[in-house]
Amino acid sequence: MNAIAPPSEPILSIDRLSKSFGPITAVDAVSLDIRRNEFFALLGPSGCGKTTLLRMLAGFENPTGGRILLEGQDISPLLPEKRPLNLMFQSYALFPHMSVRKNLAYGLEMERLAKGEIKRRVDEIMAVTDLSQFADRKPEQLSGGQKQRVALARALVKRPKVLLLDEPLGALDKKLRERMQLELKRLQHEVGITFIIVTHDQEEALVMADRMAILKDGQLLQCGSPEEVYETPSDRFVANFIGVMNFIEGTVDTQGIFTAPGIRMAIVDADTGMATLAVRPENMMVVAPGEGFEGRIADVAYHGLDRVLHIRITASETPIQVRVAASSAMGLAPGNSIHIAIDPRRVRLFAH
Ligand code: ATP
Repeated sequence: MNAIAPPSEPILSIDRLSKSFGPITAVDAVSLDIRRNEFFALLGPSGCGKTTLLRMLAGFENPTGGRILLEGQDISPLLPEKRPLNLMFQSYALFPHMSVRKNLAYGLEMERLAKGEIKRRVDEIMAVTDLSQFADRKPEQLSGGQKQRVALARALVKRPKVLLLDEPLGALDKKLRERMQLELKRLQHEVGITFIIVTHDQEEALVMADRMAILKDGQLLQCGSPEEVYETPSDRFVANFIGVMNFIEGTVDTQGIFTAPGIRMAIVDADTGMATLAVRPENMMVVAPGEGFEGRIADVAYHGLDRVLHIRITASETPIQVRVAASSAMGLAPGNSIHIAIDPRRVRLFAH
């Protein structure tokens, strides 16, 4: 009987992986465990090293240091085509003169699989990716979203253990991109292949990923589920990069009281000294005059069921955003004075 690996066992272990280009350290001793069947996102600003990391996994770039273990085996010495990983390129790199069916069959023909087996696998992947009706079309006769699906199907048909995707939705417009995010997640679930996706779009990572890693200047800052990263960012950079965050500068005294101009609040477990209080727009509320702190409304922005109040704290002029239900924003207008309270259980403090 085959031993079945427990689901928590990593399929891929990235162990102190580094890459330097001359004086530039593109990836700096990054260690990460990717779990089997996980949808994992590598996220970070331009130049943080995401693509270089992905290219090392695929074998297109030689690491300067560290190891890549796939199911416990070091794959670093293997050529790209010998790795059970497949990279889907940002530019889909479809063969323009071949039909969709031919594009999908090509990789399997190179592997010299039997004709019947190739047809079966191509038909199967076209059904899963909703491409069957386009089997005989050429790439130029397809829309952007359909081309993206062909590229994905071509990567999946080879049944890699891990699929690497470099900004797979980058070429699509916003609406199609949002639809494809959900489709990609459904597909990943259906085919049961581990996906590692590179994106610079934090919303995209939050929507799609089971877990995500945030990189900056080649270094790993935080790895966790979207909830963990959003609710408990490890530092100020991550807090600012993921979602909208308000920052208020102040100090914490020996009683654990955070003080900033116009604001005084008790914080559990805070170190004394200068600190930045970080609070999400949805973790503040409008209160009666005399409570909370005072601000002046600069703008009321419409966000469907919610409104985002752009406020300047009266005592410091610090701009903040507060997200409230439309009903709480009724009658509020730019120029109005307003009182705001912060939910002390939903803040982060970053010591200086
Ligand atoms: P983007 O989102 O803009 O694609 P990225 O996070 O994918 O960025 P990388 O492409 O991995 O970033 O680049 C990381 C750093 O390494 C950058 O400073 C980049 O200029 C540098 N770099 C990447 N490839 C090379 C190369 N072949 N030679 C020299 N420097 C390189």
